[in-house]
Amino acid sequence: MKRAAEVCVTASAASAALALALSLEGCRMSENVHQTPTPAASPGAARDDAADHAPGADALSVQRAAISIDMHADTVQFVVDEGADLNERLTTTHLDAVRMKEGSLDAQFFSIWVEPEHYGLKGEGAVARADEQVAAIRSLAQRRPETWTLATSAADIRRAKEEGKLSALLGLEGGYAIDEKLENVERFYRLGVRYMTPTWTASTSWAGSSGDAAGQTRGLNEFGREVIREMNRLGMMVDVSHVSDETFRDIVQTSTKPVIATHSNARALAPVPRNLTDEQIRALAQTGGVVCVVFYPAFVEPGWRELKERVDAEIAQLVREAGRRAEGRGSAKRIARDRVREREYSKRLPKVPIARLVDHIDHIVRLVGVEHVGLGSDFDGIQATPRDLSSVADLPNLTAELLRRGYSQSDVAKILGGNILRVMEEVERGTGS
Ligand SMILES: [Zn+2]
Repeated sequence: MKRAAEVCVTASAASAALALALSLEGCRMSENVHQTPTPAASPGAARDDAADHAPGADALSVQRAAISIDMHADTVQFVVDEGADLNERLTTTHLDAVRMKEGSLDAQFFSIWVEPEHYGLKGEGAVARADEQVAAIRSLAQRRPETWTLATSAADIRRAKEEGKLSALLGLEGGYAIDEKLENVERFYRLGVRYMTPTWTASTSWAGSSGDAAGQTRGLNEFGREVIREMNRLGMMVDVSHVSDETFRDIVQTSTKPVIATHSNARALAPVPRNLTDEQIRALAQTGGVVCVVFYPAFVEPGWRELKERVDAEIAQLVREAGRRAEGRGSAKRIARDRVREREYSKRLPKVPIARLVDHIDHIVRLVGVEHVGLGSDFDGIQATPRDLSSVADLPNLTAELLRRGYSQSDVAKILGGNILRVMEEVERGTGS
């Protein structure tokens, strides 16, 4: 309770109406945790199944019985640029093996992300940067096979769970690293990459992004469609997070396999271009795919992004200085700047309650059913997290909120990872992998 009260005072001091509203919501949430849930309000309750719904079930044991998969974390940047050892308990990241075990997260897709500002939208530099990150994740399993498995299939994840090991998986974020060459899709597949997001915040020559002006009119060109067909052929999942609305439409029309969004929320609840419209969520579900909700408050809570922009203006000088002081290559400077942002956001911005994130899950479930939702935290790629969800160790708090809303244990298991396992199996089918 003390902590909740402190949050309220801090947020009120921010003097923005939204900040106050959020903090009050936070207090209300904290106080309601032990009260009787009102299941009628949640879609989970609508399908509540007495056979497998255990009232008061402990979230951690529900998670241990399930297979939990997070579709997106940017932790590998810290491994490559700062030498972070994911086998130790770290204080500089949101994720490591110790906290994955504490939070019972079984499988992590590590985002292989090529920063266009430093490595280009294509070219050898972009390929080399991706290779460096792939190697860092592959070496986790090579050096610590008792802890990690490099998983490239649903069966690998299931086996690792049985053996008490963590699964490390590879996803390529931003198609820059294929260097506009179709053969590189297969090259990355052979290295273990099992999904690709055609763009990050900048459009490529072959796919429009939701993050720039070009993307407002650009979808896939013919090469882009070839890339999608090649991914289908190989058994690499197609990820629509970050792509423009035009690219989304072209991907759904082109792909013959289920399409996923590895880290996106519902635009109906938080109207930002990175989130999916109800029409897009329905179209994605029709492919058999899954929307994995992202934890970043700007994509969870309407108005949070505007507050953040105000804070960004206030701290611009601090951020610039941190970048100037940092030594090493461009990405080291980015990490230094992000650290300052993280510190200042935690002081100056309201914490968004987990309940708001679960509202996105509820919304997607109401639209298309519980078979089409999953988790894509974006841990280590975001400088703020929801309250009580500050690292992978906190994942049971999210599970607890799902249970509180009346989701059955089997539905929780689908959301935590079962739906993604189904998609992986379907995408793998007929590819000989
Ligand atoms: Zn992203």
